Amino acid sequence: MKIAKQLFFALALITPTLASAQVELTNKVLIIGIDGVRTDALLSASTPNIDSLWRGNAGAYRFDAKTDDVTISGPSWTTMLTGVGSAKHGVKNNNMSGGHFTNYNTNYVSFMDRLEAANPTIQTAAISQWEPTNSIFSNIDYKATGNGASVKNQAVELLSGQNVTVSNPDAIFLHFDDVDGAGHSSGYLSQSAITAVQTIDGYIGEILAAVRSRDTYAEENWLIMLSSDHGGNGSSHGGSTPQEKYVWLIMNGMDVVVGEMENGILTADIAATAMVHLGLDIDPSWDLDGQVRALKDNDAARSASSLYADGASPIPEPSTYGLLAGGIIALAAVIARRRKR
Ligand SMILES: [Zn+2]
Repeated sequence: MKIAKQLFFALALITPTLASAQVELTNKVLIIGIDGVRTDALLSASTPNIDSLWRGNAGAYRFDAKTDDVTISGPSWTTMLTGVGSAKHGVKNNNMSGGHFTNYNTNYVSFMDRLEAANPTIQTAAISQWEPTNSIFSNIDYKATGNGASVKNQAVELLSGQNVTVSNPDAIFLHFDDVDGAGHSSGYLSQSAITAVQTIDGYIGEILAAVRSRDTYAEENWLIMLSSDHGGNGSSHGGSTPQEKYVWLIMNGMDVVVGEMENGILTADIAATAMVHLGLDIDPSWDLDGQVRALKDNDAARSASSLYADGASPIPEPSTYGLLAGGIIALAAVIARRRKR
């Protein structure tokens, strides 16, 4: 009897430790932007790696996500990465000035700048084939540029802990440009544009493998989002045809509600969704146009992240009081429920 009792107490001490060690996942975000990819170009291409993120209920998707009204790279990437349209952020063209796009209203900063402002220990990185997208970010930890293969190689290094500046990235933005190049020279639905999509799909396969082979992958909760800044009409863009204005948006991760997303998805939703996944509550004063999409439970997404566990929610929610009062047994029960999701 005595031994049984000792065993019981030993188990009672050990079990919550094991359970909490399993459930305390660190939330991470990877956004992969491919410039100038029409939805029909994406769906015409052979893209086994991109497909693996959404087909067969692997993730969430929408093939008429609206980009900015100004279907040019500078305005459209700024919209996706700030979460507000060009009417607010002010970028209407690709002109550069003083390290920012001309007329960039920095009251509307990028999602990674908001993450850094709330928690400077977060590790943020952008690697872009088109350098101006890096100018959308002001105070992030790391920016780099390169051609498509170089962006891929640098992303793999970053994810593998080989980047000396950002050893353990929490939020990453990658930009690939070769489809837009092919679109301008041969047309946005040309064979060369489709071939460029397929090349980038191969890069994405290597990047996904790098995510999954991280030493700490089992303790991480990655939200991966893929989209484009605009489509194209013939061999140009900047107009307001559906082929330019509506693109595709794919989300993958254990917190994602799989299947086709609701009508009215914006590329600007990416910024809000990324911030909430990383535990940062949306402040109404940011005046975002985008909103959180396809996350199973925003509260669960926040509580699973250690990044803002203290800073973003100074006032415990009623459920937190319940946990504190109920003690370890209640906590273990909640953990058990959460793990079933
Ligand atoms: Zn573009």
